[in-house]
Amino acid sequence: MSIYSELWSPKPLEIPQRSRLFCLEPIAVGSPYTESLSSYVNRLAQAHCLTSQKLVMGEIAPLILKDEDKSELLSKNLSHLLGNSDAKPAINGMREMTGKLVTVLEELTMRQNLRFLTLLSWKGMIHDQGLFRNYRAWCPCCWEEWKQKKKTIYEPLLWSFKDVEVCLIHKQRLVEVCPHCGSSLPVMARISPPGFCSRCYRWLGQGMIGEEEIEKYRVNIQGISELIALVPQLKYAPIPIELTRKLQLISSVFEQAMGQDLNFLGELWEILESLKIASIRNQNQPLHLVKLIIPVCEKAKISISQLFLLNFQELGNTLFENLGLKLTL
Ligand SMILES: [Zn+2]
Ligand SMILES: [Zn+2]
Repeated sequence: MSIYSELWSPKPLEIPQRSRLFCLEPIAVGSPYTESLSSYVNRLAQAHCLTSQKLVMGEIAPLILKDEDKSELLSKNLSHLLGNSDAKPAINGMREMTGKLVTVLEELTMRQNLRFLTLLSWKGMIHDQGLFRNYRAWCPCCWEEWKQKKKTIYEPLLWSFKDVEVCLIHKQRLVEVCPHCGSSLPVMARISPPGFCSRCYRWLGQGMIGEEEIEKYRVNIQGISELIALVPQLKYAPIPIELTRKLQLISSVFEQAMGQDLNFLGELWEILESLKIASIRNQNQPLHLVKLIIPVCEKAKISISQLFLLNFQELGNTLFENLGLKLTL
């Protein structure tokens, strides 16, 4: 048989059956970091450039709510299918709706064993009461690390469990509230790409807080801690004008320090400018704790307690001593 007759043979080509939705592969199945069902649905929506609401209400809901008008379903909210309780991480567990979602998703994606992304296999064996959280939780370091390594961002089933409070890899507490907008987040929302807030849409990953970064916070935390602890030692309620005068004293000491030693110029210039701006304003106005009072004390090498408890003479002497100046006041 010539090549032509072979190519033109009337035998029909065997085209494998096509799935309605992409046959997206779930992540890390069989490992402790197996993807959750809700994460899979959200990633599937992303892959189709659809909102999760459109995917669920347009493709999944019509197969579950067979009696309802399909065109009407599309305009409805996710909660029409997933009631309030199913919008919680428990949807990844062993609910009736979990089973329905798995069946329909397997049909639409032609991918088998999507029940591995849930606890359906343990139904009747394990009590699910109190097993799951009420909202999403995540390890920001895992997400940040996956992003850096260009890995797919997803939500492991593990994070659905209430008792999983820390990430053992990063030794960090799981986060339950968006650090940008303060919202608790449902597992499925209208738009809910893994790794992002479904309210403000900002990235939820964050690098590890290392020793260096903690140092950055230490000065402020120590200053605030001292301010709290100091109150019982105050003989009378702090008076704004007294603080302003003490800051003026510090200002003049800084100026003398800069005049005597040019090394102080770079170190003190910026804070001196802030002090001058603050002193121009109404002297009875409150001052910024973190932007002014704490950094001034740090530069003057005095504690918050010293600032408030020492009298003018004592403060002057301490400042001169700390900055190594000759007493010329
Ligand atoms: Zn982690
Ligand atoms: Zn947010």
